[in-house]
Amino acid sequence: MPIRFQNTLTREKDEFRPIEDMKVGLYTCGPTVYDFAHIGNWRTYMFEDILRRALEYHGFDVRHVMNITDVDDKTIRGSTAKGISLNEYTAPFIQGFYEDRDALNVLPAQVYPRATEHVPGMIALVKTLIEKGLAYRSEDGSYYFDISKFPGYGKLSHFRIEDLRAGARVKSDEYEKAQVSDFALWKAWDEADGGVFWETDLGKGRPGWHIECSAMSSEYLGQTFDIHTGGVDNIFPHHENEIAQSEGATGRKFVNFWLHSEHLLVDNRKMSKSLGNFYTLRDVIAKGYDPLAFRYLVLGAHYRSKLNFTWMAMDAARASLDNLYEFMGRLDREDPSGLDDAVSRAKQAFDEAMDDDLNTPVALASVFGLVKEVNVHGKGGREVFEAMMDFDRVLGLNLAERAKSAGGEIPQEIMDLVERRQQARKAKDFAASDRIRDEIASKGFIVEDTPEGPRVRATA
Ligand SMILES: [Zn+2]
Repeated sequence: MPIRFQNTLTREKDEFRPIEDMKVGLYTCGPTVYDFAHIGNWRTYMFEDILRRALEYHGFDVRHVMNITDVDDKTIRGSTAKGISLNEYTAPFIQGFYEDRDALNVLPAQVYPRATEHVPGMIALVKTLIEKGLAYRSEDGSYYFDISKFPGYGKLSHFRIEDLRAGARVKSDEYEKAQVSDFALWKAWDEADGGVFWETDLGKGRPGWHIECSAMSSEYLGQTFDIHTGGVDNIFPHHENEIAQSEGATGRKFVNFWLHSEHLLVDNRKMSKSLGNFYTLRDVIAKGYDPLAFRYLVLGAHYRSKLNFTWMAMDAARASLDNLYEFMGRLDREDPSGLDDAVSRAKQAFDEAMDDDLNTPVALASVFGLVKEVNVHGKGGREVFEAMMDFDRVLGLNLAERAKSAGGEIPQEIMDLVERRQQARKAKDFAASDRIRDEIASKGFIVEDTPEGPRVRATA
């Protein structure tokens, strides 16, 4: 069965075909590192991770590029407010982004290009647009893209160029559809930029946000590539502007497939700091939740549906995930259990769901269908375990590593060792903590450190 994705560009569920056989170029707009990414951002990044895993599951060789926006209006505002350099300001948020990514079992991209390290490519692109008559200089020395010169403008957001106000300009990186205008490619330095500027052929200034992604995507993936993703709020203006810049400069199609994930709501409302319903992954972990329970919650909704985050939903996700871990702990990893038919039915349902525009809720239902059949049968063996491992290549829930021991109680002797190891870790005596872990291992148990504390299980 072919893989189909809902393509924002065509508004159809298009059959996926890569440009090069079995290779996929994937560009995902990364974090703007003015703060820790919030759970809505992570919903998008996890959708992208599932997309990538689903492609790899099919044998595609995916080259995944995710930019880091470390210079834009927001990062400059933040660093100026704190009186520190842009790099000092963004460093902890970049680090935090990698930590959260690992906690959520999101696969690392092959490249994380930073905007501040790619300014020459952006300058070259703006110069090409000037030469082609698509960009012009304004009174303050900034450069703007002239949308009236690019007939394709509006093709991603699906509005007509006749609706546009001719000649209006917008300098800020983010704006609403009502403000459709010529947008800034290069922003001439002004006082608000403080020490953030580059001396270039275009004058003293800094790049606009949109040009960053056009320049970095083509540098790493070429002028035309397969898939570009983001959240729905990126469609306009960010992705619309990327298309205008890239296609304006090259005269070629920029991207074949545009995929966008819907919003995450909290208590059915848009997340906002003023409503007090704004959470980062760190907030979720601080409440005692396993980050993978949040991953599970995200998998439970289709990426093009709004996802309502509540603490009750997190409790339910945690309980379901725990059931899966316990189920994995009960499986016999060595001997078959004669459930090949149930396994192949589940696999077929799982694959069909994922090939149909990444229908993760239906895919999860097929996993639980198999769990139910195993429970009715009384036990599950190697073929079930192997199927679960296959599913987990896409789901990313660490089912094998986190399987809970079926052996019930952990002996007191082991619990005492775990406690002593925790003390050693607290005292930062890592030599002692490693020694105790080895002692625990020699007695047939594994201790894993999770955000919720150590987890112990019998060696499988
Ligand atoms: Zn972008």
